[in-house]
Amino acid sequence: MDSLITLKNGKLFVPSHPIVPFIEGDGVGKEITAVMKQVVDTAVAKAYAGNRTIEWKEILAGQKAMDEVGSFLPDETLDAISHYKVAIKGPLTTPVGKGMRSLNVTLRQKLDLYVCLRPVEYLCGVPSPVKHPEKVDMVVFRENTEDIYAGIEWEAGSSEVGKVLAFLADEMGVDKIRFPKSSALGIKPVSREGSERLIRSAISYALENDRRNVTLVHKGNIMKFTEGGFLTWGYALAEREFGAVKNAQGRYFIKRQGQEDLEIKDCICDAFLQNILLKPEVYDVIATLNLNGDYISDALAAEIGGIGIAPGANINYESGFAIFEATHGTAPDIAGKNLVNPLSLVLSAEMMLRYLHWNEAADLVRDSVSRSISSGKVTQDFYHLLQDEKIPSVLLGTREFGETLIENL
Ligand code: NAD
Repeated sequence: MDSLITLKNGKLFVPSHPIVPFIEGDGVGKEITAVMKQVVDTAVAKAYAGNRTIEWKEILAGQKAMDEVGSFLPDETLDAISHYKVAIKGPLTTPVGKGMRSLNVTLRQKLDLYVCLRPVEYLCGVPSPVKHPEKVDMVVFRENTEDIYAGIEWEAGSSEVGKVLAFLADEMGVDKIRFPKSSALGIKPVSREGSERLIRSAISYALENDRRNVTLVHKGNIMKFTEGGFLTWGYALAEREFGAVKNAQGRYFIKRQGQEDLEIKDCICDAFLQNILLKPEVYDVIATLNLNGDYISDALAAEIGGIGIAPGANINYESGFAIFEATHGTAPDIAGKNLVNPLSLVLSAEMMLRYLHWNEAADLVRDSVSRSISSGKVTQDFYHLLQDEKIPSVLLGTREFGETLIENL
């Protein structure tokens, strides 16, 4: 039993030798998973000299699962993640075909992983399209289970959409739909409970990690009850559960002992997308709805040059379930060619180590990644960008870059 991660009173208890399930992933998954495991094992060995280790347990999903056991997402995989709580995964091919849901979305929904967590911090030496990428240092909490993303929509011309249109016109008096005969319709559920648990996670994270402020990003000026609700419920929660108080200038702060108070503020999403280019340094922790969060995460990742190496996680802080994952896809064009950059999964593993409170090992991984990129010895994606900017660099394959990461640990 002492290899099981457990959650008691909202606190994660991690044994010294936890079993961590991993999904290798399709396409480039095999290559990046191999590097990630070696880097993590070496960092943990260096940090804890054998007193802590990770026992990896492979679980199946995607094409490999289909080939071996005849299902893209076997029940045993979900059972194993529920049992062991924390897992890490490579990218999965979304099977093409009507009615086939994305495996990633299925995993998030089945385990109710309501936070999509994306830290966005510049790594020195990474080629970036903006002048001062080092000013970007944010952590995005994107709501993962609600919004227009919940998948409640009907095709234009279908009998279902006809029923909903008739209901809206006859029962609700809706006459604002410009072209009713040819409209498709989608539903945008945003609940108080769903918003509160996401915002609670973001504020708790900001307090635990000494962050400066939390910004609620929304479009409440237009969508008053859904996105506006998110905003109203967010401030109410900050007041009720964290004791946030409005000052004379109308700004909200949560008191902290011995350090600056934590500010809770908000920003309309379109303005936010401008501001992250014009003054990214004013933002820190971001709490936002599902669709906004999708756009924001990728825009921020691009600013720091990290769109292909951005790490991510899907977490339920109430159950403790967490899946850390490479955010890019299976990259079929380069799979099996020793070309893929393994950093998205390696940095996701760094996030996982921090989630387990193994910060010493996480710091080693982070330092090694910084040192490796700064040395200019990189995989082909970075190599081409550095060449474009006339920065001297050396081209390495995935395995060789993995060896560099280990040497630099
Ligand atoms: P992709 O991210 O796989 O590839 C887009 C481009 O980026 C390709 O040219 C690829 O070679 C390159 N690229 C991606 N990651 C890279 C890396 N680490 N190093 C170097 N180059 C990299 O996106 P896609 O082609 O749209 O999707 C391919 C498949 O992946 C689809 O089946 C899609 O459904 C799936 N997908 C899975 C996830 C996931 O599991 N989280 C996410 C996105 C897409």
